[in-house]
Formats: sequence, structure tokens, C-alpha cells
Amino acid sequence: MKELTYKNYKNLVETLKEDYTFTCFSKIKFSNEPIEKKVLLRHDVDLSLEKALEMAEIEYELGIPATYFLFLRSPFYNIFSGNEGKIIRKIIELQHYIGLHFDFAKYENLTISQMSYQIKREIDFLQDFYSIKLDSVSFHRPLSMEFFSRLELSNYPHSYEPVFVNNFKYFTDSRAIWKYGHPLESKEYLEKKNLHILIHPIWWNEKPTSDISCIKNFSDTRDQKFEGDLYAELKSFWDGKDLKPCINKLR
Ligand SMILES: [Zn+2]
Repeated sequence: MKELTYKNYKNLVETLKEDYTFTCFSKIKFSNEPIEKKVLLRHDVDLSLEKALEMAEIEYELGIPATYFLFLRSPFYNIFSGNEGKIIRKIIELQHYIGLHFDFAKYENLTISQMSYQIKREIDFLQDFYSIKLDSVSFHRPLSMEFFSRLELSNYPHSYEPVFVNNFKYFTDSRAIWKYGHPLESKEYLEKKNLHILIHPIWWNEKPTSDISCIKNFSDTRDQKFEGDLYAELKSFWDGKDLKPCINKLR
């Protein structure tokens, strides 16, 4: 049950579905409904959009929504590129919510008001480009809970607001293990308390896979993608030489 396989993931979701409603951050913050038996299923897409799509497809088959938090300024993926744009549009089509994953480290020494301005700017870019309304914001390696708990972004809830911290038990699969235990083994699940589950798609696979192998797979996929892009870019004017073996030798 604890291994991060797709089979175990499906089992987790199907078990939770029996008692809980899967929802999103804005519905919790802005609706009048009582906050009871809710699951916030959240994915911070730190590394791989391809892995995120695999998870989005599984969730669609299981009939539940999750919230996918994307970086605007990632060193690993480009949300404005053709191929990656297709993946993001597919995740939207699969009826998931999209949020902004904001990296405070990309900015230096911001006050709270400066930070909220920059977050809204990033939200605007994403919304304009994909013609969607973002659900909410999550933070990549936040500085201090105290700092973030004072932050308000009007229409856009963020995951460290007291309404989420105080009403939900938080679980995460940090570095390929359940850092705070498995949700289904918790006393909060037994008591049917609200759950906030952060899943990083990079750690999940068909078969049990070590953290370092997950990173190696990501690195290999990225190399292959780079080689494919380079070939597509160069082939039209690369006369007289065999381009593919040349690109393969780059590794
Ligand atoms: Zn992150």
C-alpha cells in the first residue's frame, strides 16, 4: 500500500471516494458549504509535465478532479512551448483545476505586498495564455509559514491560508515516501476528517521505483526530448551529414 505505484494510487483514490468529496481550494474558501469530508488533492509539478499527465489520466478514469500547480518560470519545462502547451491543455480537458506554483526564490527580498503583486502577474500570464481562470496558488519551498499565512491574494486562495492549514490534515509523498505516514493509516482518515494530499507525480510509476531511479528516468526522458527537438530544428538545413548519429554522440 505504501509503495508509490499507480495501482496503490488508484486504490487510495477509490477508497477515499467512498467517504469523501474531492474538491479544490477556491471551492473550500469561497463556498458556504460546511468543510466536511473533503479531500484536496494537489499536485505540485516541480519537474515533469509528462508525469503529471499520466496522473491526470488516471484521475480522470477514476472520475475525480485534482489541482495541478504549474510553474510559470521553470528551468525544466516551458509552459509556452508547443509540446508542453498540448500537455497542459490535455490536463485542462481532463477536467482538472490549474493553479500557479510560485517560486519565491526567483525573486529577491520581496515584501508581502511586492510578492502578492508578482504572484498576480504570474497568474495573469498563465490565465491569458490558456484562457482559463486559475484555481489557487501553492509555493515551492516556502520560507516561513508565518509569512505565508499573512498573505492574501483576493480571488486566489493559496495553500498556506489558515482555512486549509487548520481544517485539513496534510500528507505528502516527499522524496518518494509518505513523509507524514500513509493517509489511509491515519487517525484523521479513521475519523473522516478533511485531508490535504500533496502528490508529486515524478515519484509515481507502474512498479516500485527508488527516488534516484525516478530522477534518472526524468533525466533520460529530458535528454531524449532535447535530442528530438534539436533534430527537428536542424534537419531541414543539415546537408551531407548524418545528423542523428551526430546528435546521439552529444551524450
Ligand atoms: Zn514545488
